[in-house]
Amino acid sequence: MTQDLRQGSGPSSVSGVGRKSVNSAMTGEQLGSDAPALSTNRRIRCDICGAAAATLCHDSRAAKVYACRVCTGLFSRLASGQENFDAYDQQYFKVYRDRRDAQIEVSRNILTLLQKVEPDGSLLDYGCGTGVFLRLAGEFGYSENCGADTSEAALSGAASELGVVKDVELVNLRTGQLPLRRFNVITFLDSIAHIQNLDAVMTTLLNHHLAPGGKILIRTPRINMLYRIYARLAAAFLPSAFADSLYYIPNRLILFNETALRVFFKRYGLEVMALHRNSDYRSTSQVASLKRALRSSFKHTLRSLLVNRLPSLLNPNNSMLAIVKSVGPSV
Ligand SMILES: [Zn+2]
Repeated sequence: MTQDLRQGSGPSSVSGVGRKSVNSAMTGEQLGSDAPALSTNRRIRCDICGAAAATLCHDSRAAKVYACRVCTGLFSRLASGQENFDAYDQQYFKVYRDRRDAQIEVSRNILTLLQKVEPDGSLLDYGCGTGVFLRLAGEFGYSENCGADTSEAALSGAASELGVVKDVELVNLRTGQLPLRRFNVITFLDSIAHIQNLDAVMTTLLNHHLAPGGKILIRTPRINMLYRIYARLAAAFLPSAFADSLYYIPNRLILFNETALRVFFKRYGLEVMALHRNSDYRSTSQVASLKRALRSSFKHTLRSLLVNRLPSLLNPNNSMLAIVKSVGPSV
């Protein structure tokens, strides 16, 4: 499990885990929907719910951000067309290593919740980051587990974290494939927001890697309406880099609120068993961001206020955790 690099920055000051996506080719339909928006009124297909109901809400040199009128979620399309996988290097994971104790505590809390609905079996951690959650999952009784990520640095860290634990398979999603078997649990710990071809990934996982009756656990940032209004105002009155940060460009591409998450689950025939909102890391992250602010220049202090502290106040419950089960049919 890895934590978000930008502690205290808006929605999920902490959270989860590695990240991201299958490096798959886009379908023709997706390519069509990726075409640049000609105006803010043009509607494109939503990456969350699939409805052709998303309109442009932020346009910068780095990305376009769209808001969906059906599921009310946000999603981004990077100007480069592809995620910058090289960004997930050793430096990116340094903050996760530095906050290992917090990762362990969060992982234990998540596993305690998970065991109430799926006490044992196998687990696939999609976006496993540096493997803390995977190791603890073994200690909680889950076996024949698998961790998948797109980052060499993450997988290297995970191999080190797991040490002598032998029944865990690690998969580099950029160069390898998931094992041809089904898991009782699939977890996305702060990873689903990073996935570029989310529909393709979900379809593959549901059709080929989730056991019948299996559970999916998702922990992801929660974006409330106040935060969205603030981001729109920031985009209008501040340099675009501020708004980019608030929209998590370029790392996070999918930003949910509770409504969007529920619509997303419905799209894939997933029934919500538990949905929690929390701010587990807000206090620690705000202390950390305040300390950083005090050490830095006025410019950095102002930036910290605008990008970290103010959004945290507007959006205090900045993280969601959902457990769902497959009731089919999947897409
Ligand atoms: Zn939508």
